[in-house]
Amino acid sequence: MSKFAWVTLTTNDTYSLGALVLAHSLKRAGTAHQLAVLVTPTVSEAMRDRLKDVYNVVQEVNVLDSQDAANLALLSRPELGVTFTKLHCWRLVQFEKCVFLDADTLVLKNCDELFEREELSAAPDVSWPDCFNSGVFVFTPSVETFNKITEYAVQHGSFDGGDQGLLNQYFADWSTADIKKHLPFVYNVTAYASYCYLPAFKQFRDKIKILHFAGKLKPWLLQFNSETKTVSTPTDYAHAQDLIQHWWNIFCDSVHDSLS
Ligand code: UDP
Ligand code: MN
Repeated sequence: MSKFAWVTLTTNDTYSLGALVLAHSLKRAGTAHQLAVLVTPTVSEAMRDRLKDVYNVVQEVNVLDSQDAANLALLSRPELGVTFTKLHCWRLVQFEKCVFLDADTLVLKNCDELFEREELSAAPDVSWPDCFNSGVFVFTPSVETFNKITEYAVQHGSFDGGDQGLLNQYFADWSTADIKKHLPFVYNVTAYASYCYLPAFKQFRDKIKILHFAGKLKPWLLQFNSETKTVSTPTDYAHAQDLIQHWWNIFCDSVHDSLS
């Protein structure tokens, strides 16, 4: 069994649909590594069973765990709840190295080479490229690191109220220290924002390895015609219509039947 794992997180049955499609996209890309998903108690038993069909590890985590001093302090910081939940990935110490993927990402090509990178490797955020986007990042599980980041969260909070602000504050030298920790953009292409530079999107679209549906419009929220099996995409996403359709094709081929 591989000592490496892809890790995602879901706190409800809706994001779990994303996690299921993501897992199938990783398998289609032929990954040699394990799949792990963090679930909160708010994910239904039925959905956990579906996740167990494709994930090697389905790990329940609490949004706030009262057995830990740092977590107790977080109780007075409710806005950090979801942030904190993502941090649980550092506790997966049965693995030597992991890549975290948001549940709204879609793997288009094999990316196993990412496990050659060191913590913390990530791609630039399109809106502020001196920050990394926390939808895709390479990390080394460690309880010590988990405790340090949660303590940091208690003391300093997060400048954007989410995990991305917190992780960019904690791994503050990411933008300057080591270029090897800058993942190429093709590992985390923001589907929505890429329309800002359409010529580049067209030029490099065949090189995209991981697509990220960051923002409010998730693929599972778009209108889908079950007769023609086609998805309606808003104009801002028109350039990525076939990629959104790809998400839905995986959903129809590999996920839908298992849910009924
Ligand atoms: N997430 C979740 N439930 C939520 C919100 C977020 O499970 O209600 C997880 C999920 O893995 C998601 C990630 O946290 O992909 C980050 O949130 P999101 O992708 O919505 O943020 P964005 O990429 O749009 O900034
Ligand atoms: Mn996301």
